[in-house]
Amino acid sequence: MNLIPFLAFSLALGAGKPNILVIVGDDMGYADVGFHGCKDIPTPHLDALAASGTRFSSGYVSGPYCSPTRAGLMTGRYQQRFGHEFNPAGNAGKNGLPVKEKTLPQRLKNGGYATGMVGKWHLGNQEAMQPQSRGFGSFFGFLGGAHDYFSPGGILRGNTQAGDKTYLTDAFAREAVSFIEAHKKDPFFLYLAFNAVHTPLQADEGRLAKFSGIEGKQRRTYAAMMSAMDDAIGKVRAKLKAENLENDTLVFFISDNGGPTMNGVSVNGASNLPLRGSKRTTLEGGVRVPFIISWPARVPAGKVDDRPVIQVDILPTALAAAGVGVGEKAHLDGVNLLPFLDGRQTGNPHDSLYWRFGAQMAIRRGDWKLVRYDKAAEGAKGVSAAKLYNLREDIGESKDLMAEQAGKARELQAAWDLWNKDNVAPLWGQEAKLPKR
Ligand code: CA
Repeated sequence: MNLIPFLAFSLALGAGKPNILVIVGDDMGYADVGFHGCKDIPTPHLDALAASGTRFSSGYVSGPYCSPTRAGLMTGRYQQRFGHEFNPAGNAGKNGLPVKEKTLPQRLKNGGYATGMVGKWHLGNQEAMQPQSRGFGSFFGFLGGAHDYFSPGGILRGNTQAGDKTYLTDAFAREAVSFIEAHKKDPFFLYLAFNAVHTPLQADEGRLAKFSGIEGKQRRTYAAMMSAMDDAIGKVRAKLKAENLENDTLVFFISDNGGPTMNGVSVNGASNLPLRGSKRTTLEGGVRVPFIISWPARVPAGKVDDRPVIQVDILPTALAAAGVGVGEKAHLDGVNLLPFLDGRQTGNPHDSLYWRFGAQMAIRRGDWKLVRYDKAAEGAKGVSAAKLYNLREDIGESKDLMAEQAGKARELQAAWDLWNKDNVAPLWGQEAKLPKR
């Protein structure tokens, strides 16, 4: 092997392993960021993050709910492969991400990274399932699916109550900055999982005052919460810049699911327009989310990419950037996106993307989507019959083409059936009994 080009390449990368920062927002509306055209809630720091890298306008998550999406994120696998189809509930709080599944922080820790988590976990409460047992060297946050923003009970630093009364999103910003300060000399992996903008709808008076022009308390409070998260992201990016780490830090940003806009979910004032549907549906509004990848040293800036990608791609992309092997028995569903981002590889990263959420399902292949969705999205009960949409022409999933394109629908159903053969029954939960969050 000729080492000279390789060494030159390594030096161009800034010598070695990039830092990795995965930021997750919670229950954000697809429409509610500046880079998707939002007018009433400025998100300057998220917009700057998007401009510093590539944003995916067809970026997806593998579940329309908080915990399943995080299970897919942490493993790089469709969570239906190991039964984590629904939010963990019941079994006296003992359910969570199965410990036999290897997580992103475990893999990066083994690869020499300092690992830390700040924010919402929602992958199991019992000790063996807590962040510190799943690869994180440090943890500040809470274990469940939602949290009061002003009340410190249940906010942990490691295993102990933090007793912190700071507005929660601001506390997460402070902790993320201090993690970077502590590990600025290491390659680090920071998982920053905001519970903003999930209910309860609570914001500080200062930010609420900034949005006094928004009529309606729900949207006004949501705007203030979003603004707090945007401020927090600004603080984290300012710290990276101050330490001269911006160029060599790979940043991912996603929301864990779409905005909750229908009966039976944690409605927060979000808008998913022009997408149809809500959190808890396999319509686009439930699973298509704001999705950014920024790495100034390697990923083109200011690009919009419409190729479908999904949050299970984050693990293989991060591992490839870190130079950490996956292991041949890993059976990942995600794809390393780096060669697609820098143009070494053309075409679509995925032939198809797949969803299953109880009786709901979906598959996207090219412009086509076959879907059975929760009819609460249209004020009715139960799950819809299969519908076929062409997303290129009909991003709002309004014109069912089943009758005209029966062959295409059969093709998609057959592909979904093939994917579904490798899935297992949910370890817990039934759609009909899903709790509110
Ligand atoms: Ca969520």
